[in-house]
Amino acid sequence: MTLEEIDKEYVLHTYGRSYINFTSGKNATLFDKKGEEYIDFTSGIGVVSVGHANKILSDAICKQASDIIHISNLYLIEPQAQLAKRVVELSGYDMRVFFANSGAEANEGAIKIARKYGEVDAEPKRYKIITLKNSFHGRTITSLRATGQEKMHNFFGPYPDGFVYAKDLDEIISLCDDKTVGVMIELIQGEGGVEPQDKQKIKLLENELKKRDILFMVDEVQTGIYRTGELFASNLYDISPDIITVAKGLGGGVPIGAVLTKLKDIFSPGDHGSTFGGNYLSSRAGLVVLEILESEKNSGRLDETMLYFSEKLEKLAVKYEKLIDKSVGLGLMRGLRIKSTQKLNEIVRVAMAHKVLVLKAGRNTLRFLPPLTITKNEINKGFERLESAFENIS
Ligand SMILES: *Cc1c(COP(=O)(O)O)cnc(C)c1O
Repeated sequence: MTLEEIDKEYVLHTYGRSYINFTSGKNATLFDKKGEEYIDFTSGIGVVSVGHANKILSDAICKQASDIIHISNLYLIEPQAQLAKRVVELSGYDMRVFFANSGAEANEGAIKIARKYGEVDAEPKRYKIITLKNSFHGRTITSLRATGQEKMHNFFGPYPDGFVYAKDLDEIISLCDDKTVGVMIELIQGEGGVEPQDKQKIKLLENELKKRDILFMVDEVQTGIYRTGELFASNLYDISPDIITVAKGLGGGVPIGAVLTKLKDIFSPGDHGSTFGGNYLSSRAGLVVLEILESEKNSGRLDETMLYFSEKLEKLAVKYEKLIDKSVGLGLMRGLRIKSTQKLNEIVRVAMAHKVLVLKAGRNTLRFLPPLTITKNEINKGFERLESAFENIS
């Protein structure tokens, strides 16, 4: 059997998978088994924030693995405590952290925090959480329910009650009632199509929620960890949420998720937990990722990269205006709105044939989530290949 045949025979078919066999990488460049070189504008859907095979990260992981990988959360875990301190300090918010293993799990933690807040000392008990119709919050039963896209709720019911969907930011306040305890949103919708929210509207929403004692919960699973140029998009939007969730970019590829909250004493021992969450390996990875990215940010390199990438996108959008409506997004979370869905699928496929990896988001967006450490040389190569791909779109 070929590897492709083995994969198709033994792995459940949950992904529309392509069958290039990548065997190694270096920063934003990937190599397949035949030695062919690809430019990676996806970083594993925003995960490989410090690039493939980052020497500092892989050395730290190897060292950690050779000392100790895991005990349990019943004992002190030094890098977990240090990572919590670092992420809170860098955020500028007065919060505490719970560590999980994925974005969905981080959001489950956020929902549990909100539900507990609504139950304690409150009459009537509050449990409703408002999310947006075009949102994405994860694949577990509850985070899938929190995801407002009805087409994703065709199976798997019955779902937990208490999720209300607003069609946009303006509708949220009119949907709040005496059972509403939280509002959860992405500041830039990722899966929904790289859709940044309006800053003034977000600040207005924050004010209205504060007045009503409704928790402002921001899902930064994709936008967090310097993706938009700041540690959190919340920093960029100049807001101060009650709850923030992160995952994707934090471990540089090692699975980790986290929920941060101002409600520092919301949980008592036994309320929540995770076997793997925040173990030595993943929190060591998180610490090193933050160190690398903080230095990218402080040296000005991150801002330079964001600007350079953005200019390249704008140029492409102008050159192929027949296919591209406009360039969207912030920082290194970017997209091109493609005029036809059919062409979008073709572009992703042809780009792959030209050895540059790009993503789709929503129905009409070509999405870019490169490693935050991508070099100018890699950006140049990637866009040259993308141009060749566009030249070959009918
Ligand atoms: C990817 C994503 C999730 C889900 O994260 P998983 O690690 O796949 O569980 C949740 N929210 C947002 C905004 C995401 O982009």
